Amino acid sequence: MKPVLKQVPPDQYWGFTYLFDCPGCGDFHGFNETIWQFNGDLVKPTISPSILVTWTEFSELGRKQYDEWYAGLRDKNRTGKFDSITKVCHCFIREGRIQFLGDCWHELKGQTVDLPPATPINPD
Ligand SMILES: [Zn+2]
Repeated sequence: MKPVLKQVPPDQYWGFTYLFDCPGCGDFHGFNETIWQFNGDLVKPTISPSILVTWTEFSELGRKQYDEWYAGLRDKNRTGKFDSITKVCHCFIREGRIQFLGDCWHELKGQTVDLPPATPINPD
């Protein structure tokens, strides 16, 4: 079986020492052993407590507002924020499977699936 985690230098990944590919977000999330307990198994990891990831991004409206502002259609002196939304990805990882909790933004919420094999990191 293939590893589902990859070990990374913490100074390059916000203090995370391991990353995994999240099949719900299509991006990677991370953890470290300072905050989380990890069974040390890269193929069938169990990590606790849960991993909670939140971030803010433009909503559809915010993207439109930004695009219009950027294209010069709006007041150049415009202040204030563009409309945004907060996204949440919240999961437990047990024995190589990822259990998404009900507060996830994506369609795998409430489901438990296998973690995909770890992919190489693209330097960008
Ligand atoms: Zn996720």
